[in-house]
Amino acid sequence: MSKTSESTHTPLLILGAGPAGLAAALYAARADLEPIVLTGPALGGQVSITYIVENYPGFPEGVEGPDLVKRFQEQAEKFGAQLVLDTAVAVDFQQRPFRVQTTKTAYTADAVIVATGATAKQLEIPGEDEFIGTGVSYCATCDGHFFKGMDIMVVGGGDSALEEALFLTRYANTVTIVHRRDQLRAGRLLQKRARNHPKIRFLLETVVTEILGDDIVEAVRLQHLPSGEIREHPTAGVFIFIGYHPNTDLFEGQLALDERGYIVTDK
Ligand code: NAP
Repeated sequence: MSKTSESTHTPLLILGAGPAGLAAALYAARADLEPIVLTGPALGGQVSITYIVENYPGFPEGVEGPDLVKRFQEQAEKFGAQLVLDTAVAVDFQQRPFRVQTTKTAYTADAVIVATGATAKQLEIPGEDEFIGTGVSYCATCDGHFFKGMDIMVVGGGDSALEEALFLTRYANTVTIVHRRDQLRAGRLLQKRARNHPKIRFLLETVVTEILGDDIVEAVRLQHLPSGEIREHPTAGVFIFIGYHPNTDLFEGQLALDERGYIVTDK
């Protein structure tokens, strides 16, 4: 690593400190590449807001997301990776060394590993933005405890929706899963657990069209798709788990992206 008044040079800059970025950091540090890792806004990425990870090899009892991240970080730092709490805001991959501008400074690097992960998708319905933090959430571990004894809702039919719904049962009185199709996308084990859980109920072939309330969420407007019937359903919270967008806006014009924004890779 070398530093001028304008920028710091490193053989390897890693963008993102989720499992991919931190695994890359571990390997690079052990190869004496002195990697610098820009953590972005969330050290650990999405797994850091996951309550429990049950399918990571080596943890037969399961491991809490934040614990797993702490271990990744310790292991990478042990071999000399340097984690920096900063976010890349512009990149120039057209010249060498590559240039990366951050919110605080600038870096040049002989190589850059992009591991910027993804962000939770929004429903993009009326009321959603307005009630973020007052009943609308994308993170059960962050916000679940605010809903002790209440009736809440989870939107989505994938693994995330069911896993987080199961987690939310520890706080909520009931958790209603609203899914747009009659079949869930989630794996069979999670489906079985959710269907057998006394606090979980399902509203299938149904979409949330609006989130309603005064200062906080009080209800949602639901549409049953086969019949077209629209009705209000009281709820104290709406947890949305409908998939993720790749965090690749930064690389537009710099790297090839597919139509969904994912980086096109070679072999
Ligand atoms: P996902 O598998 O893409 O599922 C998204 C769900 O949201 C789908 O059921 C989808 O409905 C629904 N959805 C999408 N857009 C919607 C919209 N605008 N309105 C209403 N519903 C909408 O996403 P995920 O559950 O976050 O999982 C992402 C990946 O991580 C998957 O590969 C998953 O297997 C993996 N994951 C694994 C675990 C685990 O193994 N324990 C846990 C979490 C995630 P449709 O089904 O109709 O498309």
